[in-house]
Amino acid sequence: MSNTPPRDPGRFGRSTRLIHAGRDPSAQHGFVNTPIYRGSTVLFPTYDDLMHRRGRYDYGTSGSPTMDSLKDAWSELTGAAGTVLTPSGLAALTVALMSVVSAGDHLLVTDSAYRPTRLFCEGVLKRFGVETTYYDPLVGAGIGELMRETTKAVLVEAPGSQSFEMQDVPGIAAVAHARGAAVIMDNTWATPLFFPPHERGVDIAVEAGTKYLSGGSDLLLGLTSANAAHWPALHRTFEHFAMCAGAEDVFLALRGLRTMELRLREHERQGLAMARWLQARPEVLRVLHPALPDDPGHAIWKRDFSGSSGLFGVILEPVPTAALAALLDGLELFGMGFSWGGFESLVIPFDCKTYRTATRWEPGGPGLRFHIGLENLEDLQADLDAGFARLRAAM
Ligand SMILES: *Cc1c(COP(=O)(O)O)cnc(C)c1O
Repeated sequence: MSNTPPRDPGRFGRSTRLIHAGRDPSAQHGFVNTPIYRGSTVLFPTYDDLMHRRGRYDYGTSGSPTMDSLKDAWSELTGAAGTVLTPSGLAALTVALMSVVSAGDHLLVTDSAYRPTRLFCEGVLKRFGVETTYYDPLVGAGIGELMRETTKAVLVEAPGSQSFEMQDVPGIAAVAHARGAAVIMDNTWATPLFFPPHERGVDIAVEAGTKYLSGGSDLLLGLTSANAAHWPALHRTFEHFAMCAGAEDVFLALRGLRTMELRLREHERQGLAMARWLQARPEVLRVLHPALPDDPGHAIWKRDFSGSSGLFGVILEPVPTAALAALLDGLELFGMGFSWGGFESLVIPFDCKTYRTATRWEPGGPGLRFHIGLENLEDLQADLDAGFARLRAAM
């Protein structure tokens, strides 16, 4: 094997491309990985070069070899024309939205969107004259009825944040495109490995690299990729904001990228086993997991996705708050906290009722969101088993 990237990488399988994408050891004196380039100033050799901004890099905010490694790899993986890297997943969503909408425009956002996305629409876009309407995540091709002359974009997220409804992304995209609107997707749950966004009609795809790309709960990063039609505006908007990611986080994300498929498959296997175990518990009313055959979103998941991740929801039978607290307090292995996608298992309570506007959230009991990590399954089950015993004792 030489120390240069393989020629014509498109002929290789995805796992092979995941290993080689964005990597050129010959440009790094033979070292396997692109190192961390930290820097603001980039020096130009001559007056003429400076005046013409000649050279691959001109300033730290607009790129570096470390950034390019991840951008190139991500664009190859997602099938995008280009990718920008931002300091968080939420920043990636805001750059995507700002690259599409202008004052006077209308935006459609799924009622199941990641909550901070809604807060950005209400807290920022509204002030700049962009009106947002929230829609039923199950609307499908019915999205057409909500579209106006001024509708510039439809934001989708599948499955929904916390609630896990599946959206018919290709169906929504077909209608949106016929009406001249762009489709923006938060694809954090599936990653491009389980849902290739641009192949399914998404114009701009967002990934919180903080989650599975990291895999270690130790970095914050966002990636926004666009197809050829939307790339120039996305790139321009990113440059205006200079909302660039930190070099060390990008380096860690590159490291995570090489093992992401392996980790995802294991999170999927563990997550499904745990979801089935929870389904059989008398304390559980329903499990929200689109890869389970009896989930309402299963047919769409099966048609459009090639895998599921380790994140899913559970609706418990109604219990007093003190009993829920007794379950959660005292868990030894499950951590309680926001974010997910790391090697460790997490659980948080959730309730979509407080912020939904287009649909009613009345699942029949309290909700818990689980992220299943890479621990031994029996240990995780024993931890929850003890938690359920505490819950029953507190009733
Ligand atoms: C975590 C998350 C984000 C935001 O990522 P941060 O890096 O935490 O800002 C966006 N969308 C979804 C679905 C997420 O789970």
